[in-house]
Amino acid sequence: MSPEAILYIILFISAANYIFELVLDVVNLNYGKKPLPKAAEGIYEEDKYEKSMEYQRVQTRFGFLSGGISFIASFAFLALGGFGWLDGMFQPYFSNGIIRALVFFGALFVASDVLSIPFQWFGTFVIEERFGFNKSTPKIFIMDKLKGYLLGALLGGGLLYLLMLLLNNLGVQFWWVFWIAITLFTVFMNMFYTTLIMPLFNKLTPLEDGDLRKAIETYSNRVGFPLTNIFVIDGSKRSSKANAFFSGFGKKKKVVLYDTLIENHTTEELVAVFAHEVGHYKKKHIIQSLVSSVLQTGVMLFIMSLLIFSEKLSLALGADSLQLHVNLIAFAMLYTPISFVTGIISNVVSRKKEFEADHYAIETTNNVDLPLALKKLSVDNLSNLQPHPTYVFFHYSHPPLLTRLAAMQ
Ligand SMILES: [Zn+2]
Repeated sequence: MSPEAILYIILFISAANYIFELVLDVVNLNYGKKPLPKAAEGIYEEDKYEKSMEYQRVQTRFGFLSGGISFIASFAFLALGGFGWLDGMFQPYFSNGIIRALVFFGALFVASDVLSIPFQWFGTFVIEERFGFNKSTPKIFIMDKLKGYLLGALLGGGLLYLLMLLLNNLGVQFWWVFWIAITLFTVFMNMFYTTLIMPLFNKLTPLEDGDLRKAIETYSNRVGFPLTNIFVIDGSKRSSKANAFFSGFGKKKKVVLYDTLIENHTTEELVAVFAHEVGHYKKKHIIQSLVSSVLQTGVMLFIMSLLIFSEKLSLALGADSLQLHVNLIAFAMLYTPISFVTGIISNVVSRKKEFEADHYAIETTNNVDLPLALKKLSVDNLSNLQPHPTYVFFHYSHPPLLTRLAAMQ
């Protein structure tokens, strides 16, 4: 296959992906234009429902604008051989291929992030603000950016350095060595994310003594969940939206509740939400997700080992000879259709796990409090009550509220 043909394939994938997402968004947007559905009466007040639809509309339209601009920019950059050109710019200054790869990706990362900053700013301080969600300040926004860059440089840069080193020294054998390294890294991050990374952005405090802690402990003892760590995170620092999640495994497992969740729910509802998170643990969802992501990475790295040394990929992106870091970009784009499919499968599996966790929570608490909590959460977060089923199929990791409520009946 000629480099030109490869370029056309990459451009086709990029355009097809963009058009597909655009159509899905339009379909989903128009689906919401309906009167309050019967099943939702008593959950959403008429004006809240109207507000939630307005929120979806504003977000989707804003997505059209930001997504459109980013698509045009990246498509043009690709078609005009921008990646090869950029690499050529750095060639005279960095004779070491690994250093040049780091500079190359660093430049791409900074450029794309700078382009997206106005959109992130607008999304936070205009859209989220207008709907009453935003609690962030320009200072927090800027600090988040700086910390993000630092983390990206350290972790992303470190992994990239290792990958380039292995590619240069091991040839096609790089894939399984890097796979082992990535697996260790993933396990480490799973265990220490809440202790090492999250505290850079948020304050995590152990749930203080009181009625809630007592109720949660009583529940934990009853279901045999060895609880050492229940934490509260100051989500209210950035947004009034509420959430809860389970993190880590083994001795490092934690349930983290948002302060915004605790504020707006009764003790019984919070125990039910907690029970849902315990359900994820009891049904081994955390470990299953980890294993599946490790396997997916292995498959991806193996396929990568078949393509990454082909000079044609570099030529397709406008370089004049084989450049492994340019090939990484080409590979990432050629891999999109596969990751598209694995993404769908992950979402299907994830939605199934949500049903299972809901089921577990109801079995071990009662069938009133979890539905109540989910309804409240949905209203407070202005969730889309009636997303299009096709949109749900492709994009939702959690089933929509009405489906979850129906399943819990
Ligand atoms: Zn869940």
